[in-house]
Amino acid sequence: MSGKIRFAPSPTGYLHEGHLLSALYVWAAAKKWNLKIHLRIEDHDQSRARPAYIAGIREDLAWLGFKYDSESIQSARGQVYEAALQKLKEKSLVYPCYCSRKQLLAENPQSETGEIVYQGKCFKEVGSRKPEVGSIDTAPHNLRFIVPNKFIDWHDLRLGDFHENPKLQCGDFPILDRDNQWTYQFAVCVDDIDEQITHIVRGEDIRNSTARQIALMEALGRTERPVYLHHPLIVDANNKKLSKRELAHSLRQDKEAGITPEMLFGRVCYKAHLTGNDTPIALVDAISIIMETL
Ligand code: GLU
Ligand code: ZN
Repeated sequence: MSGKIRFAPSPTGYLHEGHLLSALYVWAAAKKWNLKIHLRIEDHDQSRARPAYIAGIREDLAWLGFKYDSESIQSARGQVYEAALQKLKEKSLVYPCYCSRKQLLAENPQSETGEIVYQGKCFKEVGSRKPEVGSIDTAPHNLRFIVPNKFIDWHDLRLGDFHENPKLQCGDFPILDRDNQWTYQFAVCVDDIDEQITHIVRGEDIRNSTARQIALMEALGRTERPVYLHHPLIVDANNKKLSKRELAHSLRQDKEAGITPEMLFGRVCYKAHLTGNDTPIALVDAISIIMETL
């Protein structure tokens, strides 16, 4: 079998060590399972993406030596998202939500992870809303996907089996936000289907999204699930996630300071506890080290 994996950075900043570790995992998985590699620039949120960061992604990957087979950028795919939204509307799986941030916080419980679990207030009110409110489409609202209330069993190659119900984790979630931007959850599902992604390797900070993405992909008609692997994140000396400041430190700042790609591979593998010291290593060797762990 051959398949396709993606590396999907968001151009809301320059690439940092966390991205580099992710890329190493993606390229290692591609080598191990003989997959094509797709670069997806996740600029679904036009209010946060910047052209300089988009160019930066391509330049940094080239400098580091990461080669890929194909590329897409979400901002060029509006029609694909429109069509997918239409499909959900035809199945009556979407409704507008007019709740403000304040209302959302006040009226809904939070999960263990601190996420708001939306109780479907606007879904329940759809029938009772007065049609004379001509403002129904103009008042600020997002569009929510009606999450099926069921447990999803899924498997992560590294973390094992999960049994999760997204209705209880977050409830119906937005696919188009109040500023008319496609959300990450929606764009990523449409793309993973449309771009025929078979393997999803990404940081374990996004693991919570998986069950809801499976639910949404199923609603969009995908029958075969991708293979999932959520990799460990870089931690600091106290085993804490990298701070905002450390994450703001970009690979190109290192480059400008005369640091080589090999030095960065050595450093990132060491910080991820994949090696015992931070001596510089070649890209192929960093990839081999990670392949051993998959
Ligand atoms: N764009 C996301 C990020 O940069 C990754 C999304 C994914 O791999 O599903 O964190
Ligand atoms: Zn609402």
